[in-house]
Amino acid sequence: RNDEANASRFAPALMLDGHRVEVVANIGKLSEAAAAVEAGAEGVGLMRTEFLFLDRDEPASEDEQTEIYCGMIRALNGLPLILRTLDIGGDKLASYITLPKEENPFLGVRGIRLCLQQPDLFLPQLRAIYRAALTGPVRIMFPMISTLEDLRAAKELAETVRAQVGAPPVEIGIMIEVPSSVIMAPELAREVDFFSIGTNDLTQYALAMDRLHPTLGKNVDGLHPAVLRLIDMTVRAAKAAGKWVGVCGGIAGEPLGAALLTGLGVEELSMSLPSVPAVKAHLRKLRFTEAQDMARLALACATAAEVRNLGR
Ligand code: PEP
Ligand code: MG
Repeated sequence: RNDEANASRFAPALMLDGHRVEVVANIGKLSEAAAAVEAGAEGVGLMRTEFLFLDRDEPASEDEQTEIYCGMIRALNGLPLILRTLDIGGDKLASYITLPKEENPFLGVRGIRLCLQQPDLFLPQLRAIYRAALTGPVRIMFPMISTLEDLRAAKELAETVRAQVGAPPVEIGIMIEVPSSVIMAPELAREVDFFSIGTNDLTQYALAMDRLHPTLGKNVDGLHPAVLRLIDMTVRAAKAAGKWVGVCGGIAGEPLGAALLTGLGVEELSMSLPSVPAVKAHLRKLRFTEAQDMARLALACATAAEVRNLGR
């Protein structure tokens, strides 16, 4: 089964009735861009740029970042590349970023909030992204958007930098990973080009369970019907505004999760490299209408265990 999936990893995830799902990769460093293509990914749906900033004594410079992003564009050779701007804070901290001590860092100055407070960190990154955009296709994605104000502030900075660099406009999207952004998805959708649902954080914030919690951990399940209903709301809002939706959280890389998300109308699934061949192979065995039926059943479930039983 694994060998079979591996042998067909470059074929698209074309379902039995012709519906096609875009299967892309989550990466964190330059070498993984080429590895993603080799794994059968059709691009990069999430480049976690914070990994360029962690475990070192100073931030990655504008030039250093530009070189890495350009290298990724070259490795992907025309395939899509979504660069997520810095998502530092929460569990991910760098020694050179000084933040006031917080009681609840996952509810604090994290992701886009940190970037908006620290332009010395954010502006060089935006400049690097737009300089890379002069050499090939990239998309920008902002993490931890919880309000329209934060989105508008981030877009305004991006547009200023774009004009300075003289780069072409690029698609700008946001992570949907905070419940408020699901509730406000109709309004947010009007002001972005795409959504990518971060189910790891969306699950922890929806269930109010720390994703790294030592004993709650196993209950922090992205296939919980509460999370699936939030995903359903997000997809509906995006479609009504004519925007596309991806998922880049862990459930996108599980066969059952991939099928349910596809059935809910998600068009792009971004996952860790080892999951790519198996997810593509699994989708190829299903009809889109079957996935839609399963998604409907999942939305009606009362517990995560009931959802997981649908896959048995
Ligand atoms: C997520 O929250 O689902 C996500 C993909 O982002 P990260 O895991 O980097 O927080
Ligand atoms: Mg996240």
